[in-house]
Amino acid sequence: MGTPYRECPNCGAHLDAGELCDCRRSEREPRRPEQEPRKPMRLMAICREIDKDTGRIAVYPLKTEIDDRILGALKIQATMNPELRYFILVSARWEKYGTVIAGILKRRSVTRADVDNIGGIVEL
Ligand SMILES: [Zn+2]
Repeated sequence: MGTPYRECPNCGAHLDAGELCDCRRSEREPRRPEQEPRKPMRLMAICREIDKDTGRIAVYPLKTEIDDRILGALKIQATMNPELRYFILVSARWEKYGTVIAGILKRRSVTRADVDNIGGIVEL
């Protein structure tokens, strides 16, 4: 009396009666929810501006998208206007640490070393 078996209609493997073949397991298992697509890393520019009249320091993010052309333009701006300085970082970092970063950039003196100490942000 031979063991009854059947062939998997998908791959032809011999299966015991009632056994489900492994070859289609992935189709039977519920799909895992797709991972959230990671937000692409978006760069943003932070401007530090000293008011020429009052000497007050303002720190604010630029609304413009950052690309090579904008970076070049900002660099020229900063070179021609010593009261303007621009800093580049990824938007996620600004969202998380914006208040702290702005606090540091608002100090009367912000050196290269200060910027390095913040980390993840570069001056143009
Ligand atoms: Zn199969």
